[in-house]
Amino acid sequence: MKVPFVNLGMQYDSLRGPINEAVQNVIDETAFIGGKFVSKFENEFAEEYGAKRCVSVANGTDAIYLSLRALGIGAGDEVITTSISWIATSEVISQTGAQPVFVDVEPDGLTIDVEKIEEKITPKTKAIIPVHLYGAPADMSRIVQICGKHNLYLIEDCAQAHFSTYHGQKVGTFGDIATFSFYPGKNLGAYGDGGAIITDDEDLADKVRMIAQHGSLVKHHHLVEGVNSRLDGIQAAILSVKLPHIHDWNRKRFEAGTYYIQQLREHGDKVKLPVIKDAHGHIFHVFCIRLESESVRDRIAHALSEAGIQNGIHYPTPLPLLKAYDRLGHVPEDFPVAYDACSRMLSLPMFPEITREQQDYVCQTLLGLL
Ligand SMILES: *Cc1c(COP(=O)(O)O)cnc(C)c1O
Repeated sequence: MKVPFVNLGMQYDSLRGPINEAVQNVIDETAFIGGKFVSKFENEFAEEYGAKRCVSVANGTDAIYLSLRALGIGAGDEVITTSISWIATSEVISQTGAQPVFVDVEPDGLTIDVEKIEEKITPKTKAIIPVHLYGAPADMSRIVQICGKHNLYLIEDCAQAHFSTYHGQKVGTFGDIATFSFYPGKNLGAYGDGGAIITDDEDLADKVRMIAQHGSLVKHHHLVEGVNSRLDGIQAAILSVKLPHIHDWNRKRFEAGTYYIQQLREHGDKVKLPVIKDAHGHIFHVFCIRLESESVRDRIAHALSEAGIQNGIHYPTPLPLLKAYDRLGHVPEDFPVAYDACSRMLSLPMFPEITREQQDYVCQTLLGLL
C-alpha cells in the first residue's frame, strides 16, 4: 500500500466542478489581479474569522514581513520568536533590519516556551511572533499577558493553524495582527502561492495594504518604498470555493490525529505522541511524533519510505542553529528542548481524506520497526 504525505488530488476531485467553474469565471472576467474575486475572498475570510479586516498578499512569508513593516519595526529593534518553525518566520525579521531573538520551545507542543520569553526581553524588543506549530496553539494567555506587561506588539503566525482554537478562541484573534499562508499544502491551500493578514485595527490593515502596493493606496502617490505582494484572482476564487469546507477538513484531520494517537498510545515509551491540550484546538496540519534517538528516527524514516509511506521532518534543525544564523553564535545548549526534539522528530502522513486502512498500515509498519 502507498500512503502519500498529503493528497491534494483527492481534495480537488471532491470539488472539481466548482473549482473549474471558479477559475473559468476569473478568466472570463479577466480579473487576474485585484478585482472582485480578491475582495470577495478577503471579505469572506475576515467574516469567517470574525475579524474586522483581511488583507490578502502573495504568500505567508510576505504576510509576516508586511505586518512587521506596518508596525514600524526595523533597524535597531529586536523581535522575539520561537526556535522551531519554518525559516519564513525569522528571516523576515532580519529583512526589516531588526534582529530575531530566539526562545526555546516547551517540551509537549514544541511552541515557544512562555517561561523563557521574559529573560530575552530588552529595551530594544518590539514584538513577539509565536507560531501555532503543527496546527496547535501556543500558550496564548501567557503570551498576551507578557505583551501587555512589556508593551510589545503581538503577531501570530497562523500559517499552520487556520481556525485552530485556544480555549475556544480562534488563534489569530489574540494579537495586533495575524498572518496566514495559503500554500497548497496548508490546511487551507490555494493552487499556487497565497497569504493574508487579519486584524481589527483598520489603520494597521491599511498600512499593510499600502506597503504591499509599493507604498501607495492612491495610484502614483508613494508614501514609502514598499513591495509588490498580491494574491491573484484565480487563487482568490479557488480559496472562496474551499473556505466553506475548512471546518470539515480540520475536523477530519482532528479525527485522523486522534486515531493515530489511539493506535500508538500503548507504545508511549518509544513513541512520543502529540499532546491534545484543548479538544479541537489541534487541527493537525502536521502529525509529528518523536522517536527514541536520531539514529532510530533516521532508520525508521528510511524504512517507512521503503514501505511506501511518505514522511517528513518539521524541522531537522532549530532555526537559531541554521547556518543562516551563524552570526548569532548560538550552540545547541542554548536551545536544549528544540535541539533534542528536532533530532528525533518524524511527521507521519496527514490529510483530511486519509483512510483508517492507510493509518492502520502506517501504525503497523511503524510499530514493527520499533
Ligand atoms: C508555510 C509557513 C510560512 C510561510 O508561508 P508561505 O506561504 O510559504 O510563504 C510561515 N510560517 C510558517 C509557520 C509556515 O508553516
